[in-house]
Amino acid sequence: MSKHDLRPKAPQVLDMLQRPLRDLRISLTDHCNFRCVYCMPKAVFGTRYHFVDHAGLLSFAEIERLVRLFAQLGVGKLRLTGGEPLLRPHIEDLIEQLAAVPGIEDIALTTNGSLLTAAKAKTLKNAGLRRITVSLDSLRDETYRAMNDVGFPVAKVLAAIEHAAAEGLPVKLNMVVRRGLNDDDILAMAEHFRHTPHVLRFIEYMDVGNMNGWQPEDVVPSREIIARIGERWPLDPLEPSRYGEVASRYAYRDGAGEVGFISSVSQPFCRTCTRARLSPEGALYTCLFGTTGKDLRALLRGGAGDDEILATLQKVWGTREDRYSELRGLLRARGSGEKVEMFHIGG
Ligand code: SAM
Ligand code: SF4
Ligand code: SF4
Repeated sequence: MSKHDLRPKAPQVLDMLQRPLRDLRISLTDHCNFRCVYCMPKAVFGTRYHFVDHAGLLSFAEIERLVRLFAQLGVGKLRLTGGEPLLRPHIEDLIEQLAAVPGIEDIALTTNGSLLTAAKAKTLKNAGLRRITVSLDSLRDETYRAMNDVGFPVAKVLAAIEHAAAEGLPVKLNMVVRRGLNDDDILAMAEHFRHTPHVLRFIEYMDVGNMNGWQPEDVVPSREIIARIGERWPLDPLEPSRYGEVASRYAYRDGAGEVGFISSVSQPFCRTCTRARLSPEGALYTCLFGTTGKDLRALLRGGAGDDEILATLQKVWGTREDRYSELRGLLRARGSGEKVEMFHIGG
């Protein structure tokens, strides 16, 4: 990879910190069949919690229209997320529509893997999905069941990973590490995915939303994880493969593959953040830690033309100043308002 590839492509729109708009993460639903303790704690998200209903969700046609407009502003990469995106019926139809949008080069999906059967993996791949990220926090069944808090067995997720791989979909694994909960599984996870083409990424537990009771002490900083793994299997840092890459990549010195670290708490990467996020009901957020989103659904359903929507997108991105992770300490001390929840706008 040459240095040239690390520079952003000619930008269509820059924010206040000169960051181009490149990626769009689309949350297809805020519903989820898991209640991960760090994301949707059961005590808060029980039967009485009010999720977005069907009529409130953006339709596939509305999503496709917005993606066409985003693509005109330089977005080439899409990630479908949630909530659990595979709960959205006929998601493959949407993928097919989005894959046909001029300028869209890459469509990825983040899933908990619970609904990823062999048949589903095949239809997703055939529809145009390029890559998949499966979240997996432990290989120990007891720990995994406790973390998803609905007793879902780890064996089924391991099978889902193989279904995706069998279809030729490149697979990444996301492991959120929370001290005292699953940090003793780090080496076992690393060992399991060494010598496989699947890339495991360790994610620092974040203070997304307002409900997970995050405390700085719960975070296991990436440097600690790197040290623990490196002691057993020496690691060498790799150059970023593209501008705005969120994970720091390392290679096992013995040739057993690659591993990544997403360090948004200990080493924020706001300076190259090129990601916009669309909520299930069509609100546009310019930061994972945003407090308010721009209501694009109102424009879509109010009869706005493409020019008006494009101008809105340009204005929202053009006035963006977000860098929450860099300012975390300050903003938390100040009490920065109600943040959007992670399951609402995805990872
Ligand atoms: N339900 C899907 C899944 O779990 O893969 C997609 C949505 S989920 C919100 C996206 C990613 O965010 C998952 O990998 C999840 O582990 C991660 N995540 C959720 N809450 C988090 C937190 N508090 N800190 C760090 N990562 C978190
Ligand atoms: Fe659901 Fe994903 Fe959140 Fe877990 S992390 S509760 S699977 S949305
Ligand atoms: Fe981007 Fe906000 Fe995360 Fe910084 S905190 S990297 S601006 S999403």
